[in-house]
Amino acid sequence: STQIQLAARPSGWPTHEDFHTATVALGELGPGQVRVRNEFVSVDPYMRGRMSDARSYVAPYELGQQITGGAIGRVVASAEASLQVGTVVLHQHGWSDLVQDAADTFRAVPETPGVPLSLRLHILGMTGLTAYTGLTAIAGMQPGDTVFVSGAAGAVGTAVGQIARQLGAGRVIGSAGSAEKVGLLTSKYGFDAAFDYKEGDPRTQLAEAAPEGIDVFFDNVGGDHLEAALDAFNDGGRAALCGAISTYNTAKPAPGPNNLSNIITRGLTVQGFTLGHYLHLSPEFNEKMSGWFAEGRIVYDETIVDGIEHTVDAFLDMMRGANTGKMLVRIAPV
Ligand code: NDP
Repeated sequence: STQIQLAARPSGWPTHEDFHTATVALGELGPGQVRVRNEFVSVDPYMRGRMSDARSYVAPYELGQQITGGAIGRVVASAEASLQVGTVVLHQHGWSDLVQDAADTFRAVPETPGVPLSLRLHILGMTGLTAYTGLTAIAGMQPGDTVFVSGAAGAVGTAVGQIARQLGAGRVIGSAGSAEKVGLLTSKYGFDAAFDYKEGDPRTQLAEAAPEGIDVFFDNVGGDHLEAALDAFNDGGRAALCGAISTYNTAKPAPGPNNLSNIITRGLTVQGFTLGHYLHLSPEFNEKMSGWFAEGRIVYDETIVDGIEHTVDAFLDMMRGANTGKMLVRIAPV
């Protein structure tokens, strides 16, 4: 198996020297074990947090150990009757082409005609559920609300815009980091307005895009985007703080928003969340999302990098914005 391990804890932007590609012999299958050949491996912003040893909601990666995270593959050898060869499984073993472990560390997922396996790692899986959770359980989005989402052209963001629409949002506004992404948000993803945060101050651009103010903010970015939203909020607005990617690779964080007092004067609710505490929403999300998907109401993008040996590039490129929708690593069949 080819595995990507953490070799050193990055400070600021990670570099290739912080990772090590190891070739590991898997050995004979033990009782109850299965061997899985991955088809898609996920690279996610939260992994940056686990590369550091600062206090967080998940334990740091250990040096010299494989980077764990979401992946989907197929069982190629099995010593466990309940998980037959050929079954598609989701798991958290992370950045490798082959993985071998106890069968109960893998979860079988149904293969549905017309549903690519990769979608289980985003729009029909973790990032879709994150979007749904933030909009519903955290921000309490109501029909008619004006919703602003930062990082709108990424995996979570594209799901937020579409779910907001399905749940009856009045106006949906997004920000992203290129003219091409902004164009897609309005042409493909049904946003009413979008702006390129690299072309001007988010505060000014959001005020123009939301002349009547915003009711819900789904934040993937933090920093200047949170500040812009706090200025644009109507009274009683609600912010779901999902991520703060503008801060993940800065050795020294930029100063925070200078208008936090708007939370008081406008009676805003600002709540952070991590998906791990909301997995009970999975059945509700799966039912709604698979319905919308089957009705053809949901679109998606994937940016795919081929080869486990390019996983670090995929991860770094994702954090630099090279992806539209979900960034994935595809593992070639053997
Ligand atoms: P994305 O697919 O959105 O990829 C990351 C994107 O971030 C890039 O494409 C880039 O797009 C954007 N970006 C990078 N740097 C900056 C910056 N300085 N300012 C603004 N945008 C930037 O990733 P995900 O959809 O997987 O994750 C989105 C967010 O959601 C992350 O913050 C992540 O940590 C968070 N998250 C939180 C979860 C939770 O449980 N709370 C669960 C899953 C994700 P662009 O070209 O637009 O700059």
